[in-house]
Amino acid sequence: MRRRSGSGGIVDCLFCKISSGDIPAKIVREGEHTVAFRDINPQAPVHVLVIPRTHYADLGELSADPVVLAAVAAEAAEVAKAEGVDGTGYRVVFNTGSNAGQTVFHVHAHVLGGRGLNWPPG
Ligand code: AMP
Ligand code: ZN
Repeated sequence: MRRRSGSGGIVDCLFCKISSGDIPAKIVREGEHTVAFRDINPQAPVHVLVIPRTHYADLGELSADPVVLAAVAAEAAEVAKAEGVDGTGYRVVFNTGSNAGQTVFHVHAHVLGGRGLNWPPG
């Protein structure tokens, strides 16, 4: 069962701790519903993660909250603009579940850009 901390995040969730400021991250932008920060192991010149402040494990759970789902999508586009890759193009990825290699079970949108991105992905 999920246990909530005093600040409302999920105990032992890395991204809840980044959202609350308990664990530092290179924050790019913050909004009412979202936090955007640089991936610690960047796969492209621009690699930013956009998370909802509220804990949802994956895209399926996030979809139950259309307001926050829209905020995450809009924020991914704003990050791309702020990082200067909206003109050249970028990719937004929600790795979901084990076949996709999801490792952190607080939903996050990867915003990748600044180089050509292969398709199909690995
Ligand atoms: P995923 O594999 O889609 O679950 O992505 C998790 C991402 O979180 C990976 O790209 C990691 O490099 C990134 N990550 C893990 N820990 C941190 C952290 N403390 N700060 C920033 N990014 C992180
Ligand atoms: Zn969380």
